[in-house]
Amino acid sequence: MTISDEHLTANYARHPVEFVRGEGARLWDAEGHAYLDFLAGIGVANVGHCHPAVVAAIQEQAARLIHVGNLFYTAPMVTLAARLARTSLGDGTKVFFTNSGAEAVEAAIKCARKAKQGGDVVSLHRAFHGRTYGALSATPQESKQAPFAPLVPGFRACEPTAAAIRGAVDDRTAALILEPVQGESGVWVLGDEVLVAAREACDAHGAALIFDEVQCGLGRTGTLWHFEQTPVVPDLLTTAKGLGGGLPIGALIAGPAYADVFAPGDHGSTFPGAPVIAAAANAVLDILGDERLLARVRELGEQTRAELAELPGVGDVRGAGLMNAFDLTAGGAPELVRRALLEERLVLNATGPVTVRLLPPLVITDAELDEALARLRCLLSP
Ligand code: PLP
Repeated sequence: MTISDEHLTANYARHPVEFVRGEGARLWDAEGHAYLDFLAGIGVANVGHCHPAVVAAIQEQAARLIHVGNLFYTAPMVTLAARLARTSLGDGTKVFFTNSGAEAVEAAIKCARKAKQGGDVVSLHRAFHGRTYGALSATPQESKQAPFAPLVPGFRACEPTAAAIRGAVDDRTAALILEPVQGESGVWVLGDEVLVAAREACDAHGAALIFDEVQCGLGRTGTLWHFEQTPVVPDLLTTAKGLGGGLPIGALIAGPAYADVFAPGDHGSTFPGAPVIAAAANAVLDILGDERLLARVRELGEQTRAELAELPGVGDVRGAGLMNAFDLTAGGAPELVRRALLEERLVLNATGPVTVRLLPPLVITDAELDEALARLRCLLSP
């Protein structure tokens, strides 16, 4: 029995579907039904499921060397670090690999606190940075934090406004962490005014500005990094999700001012940057390096938001590139998502009672986008 919770802890509300195959923006269940995937493993399959170049890179590297650990060099890891550094925070940028987004956030917090020799961490309301203790302490959501108290000391949160940020960051602040597009709370694009205030406050008080691009980076909003569409460059950048083409990898990208903060023995982990995953990530970056793909993400995003706004029962529509959400004026988002999956074979996600999120693979075709919107219209029509 595959659809069984008998031996799985109960922390995920799983849908009663078993997927067995994926290709591009399509998934197939065990009974052979095809689905359109507008969730992409929660923003992971940016280059689509089982992209042939990613599969080939994994197969080739798996047959050569799978693991040696971080006391040695391997070509896929060194190449990947160089590519992430060169495409992000400028000369002198260095990379620390992790297994996940939350661990990238942990590394960013540790880096900022070491640099400041202590200090507070400020995060923003509606933020989500992960489930490990440091990342959770920077995720000011009562329902996620309360069962696991006490949290890490020295974390504070403020409203995601320029004025609140100016008031919250002071000389004791080691870091201000934010998602330039807040994902898990329902896709909220922070305005330039907020990001500029964040940059200025960090500069004025010697704090690190951390952009958590675990969800909004890697082409998701139509540039390799979302910050490229803003007037602000962060000091530290976190990435994960789409980087490994479906395999688990994250990274802390440290700009020149923080690149040499970590010294041998400060921080580490057994698996990160291992050859097979790094080879997959290099294949992912080859695909995301295509400027035509990124331009298409921006165009399809505009089209998606325009068409969502026309659907019956849809209120606010928000997003950037192919990271989008809409609110249902009458609520019922989890029910819509359930019906979409089981009746229309369209994979969506509810971030709350009224909000539905769409994170399709960036390689969706025009026909697939049209088809998904048609299925949504069908579900929403009275
Ligand atoms: N940061 C952001 C912005 C995220 O969206 C997530 C996951 O959704 C995380 C961090 C945590 O990443 P992971 O689930 O890989 O630990």
